[in-house]
Amino acid sequence: MTRFPRADYDAIRRYDPERAPVRVDLSDNTNLWGTHPGALERVRHASTDDVARYPELYADELRAAVSERFDVPMESVTTGAGSDDILDSTFRAAWGPGAHIAYAAPTFSMVEPFARMNGLDAHAVPWPAADVDPSLLLEGDPALVYVCRPNNPTGHLAPRGWLDELLAARGPDGPLVIIDEAYADFAGDTVISDAPEIPNLLVARTTSKAYGLAGMRCGFAVGAPLVALAVEKSRGPYKVGGLAAAAAATAVRDEEGWLPGVIERCLDNRARLMDELDSRGLQPLPSSANFVLCSAPTGSARRDALALRAVGIGVRPFSKIPELGDALRITIGPWEMMDDLLDALDRTFTRREAS
Ligand SMILES: *Cc1c(COP(=O)(O)O)cnc(C)c1O
Repeated sequence: MTRFPRADYDAIRRYDPERAPVRVDLSDNTNLWGTHPGALERVRHASTDDVARYPELYADELRAAVSERFDVPMESVTTGAGSDDILDSTFRAAWGPGAHIAYAAPTFSMVEPFARMNGLDAHAVPWPAADVDPSLLLEGDPALVYVCRPNNPTGHLAPRGWLDELLAARGPDGPLVIIDEAYADFAGDTVISDAPEIPNLLVARTTSKAYGLAGMRCGFAVGAPLVALAVEKSRGPYKVGGLAAAAAATAVRDEEGWLPGVIERCLDNRARLMDELDSRGLQPLPSSANFVLCSAPTGSARRDALALRAVGIGVRPFSKIPELGDALRITIGPWEMMDDLLDALDRTFTRREAS
């Protein structure tokens, strides 16, 4: 037997969301209206150098775009191959013997595996996040606290006052608080521009969701310069592909003003879908993101997701959601897709119950 890998890797599994291709995929919260037109144009006009040469060491063009867009100093901006890469690098930089990360659960499913991969213990404090006393998250002196705002999968937006309390509780001597703002574009509420001034805060963003660039694997984050620098050291150079960074910079600048229109359509359809789900008794939770979590029609999320998959609709099942039990997470998209989903729900569940 070799000594490879580390013993605690026995407990880590390869990611498998059971996501086979499907006709209408509402399972991963990507932008179902497509991609940023300027970003796509940039990719279409790739030069030989874009492909044959190494990209910038630390994606400075993207950092400059983020700096301008959010009015933050460039030294406060870091980037990664997806915001997953930023979380991973941040976790690695926080490691120490016995160090742990605390978070309110349920939340983003990658937090726990990224913690384990990086040798951190993961302490989940039960939901509901907004009502979790911040002192529960700070119990045992964590190295990191993770808050997804709005939260995936519930759509809940932790109130600003709660966040301020969490940040102030231990101040600069406390843990680094990571706010994952993957869905902040849909919430219209963000703390990204405040981050450079707060020594214990890192705000992570992705270009995979609202910007429609999931295939490019790009993300960015803003924090105090020392925090951003530590993440860059941990991540290493050349991690963001040149075309990905250039496309992301184009989308972040959004000179065409494409993003607000897409967000408006998304929020309209979210309200409309919530009404439809409500009228079917599926109790959708209020959402500040581009998805909705509702109860599973038969009470078994896995079975219901498989039944929908059989008729060409992909949704993401979750079990044991507080206040809902088994639940389905549905990405909001153009209304034809929502119609397909509602049709499938009616054909698969309502009629069977009625008969
Ligand atoms: C989708 C998602 C991400 C991942 O973003 P990438 O940039 O594609 O790695 C991060 N956080 C949350 C909460 C997400 O839902």
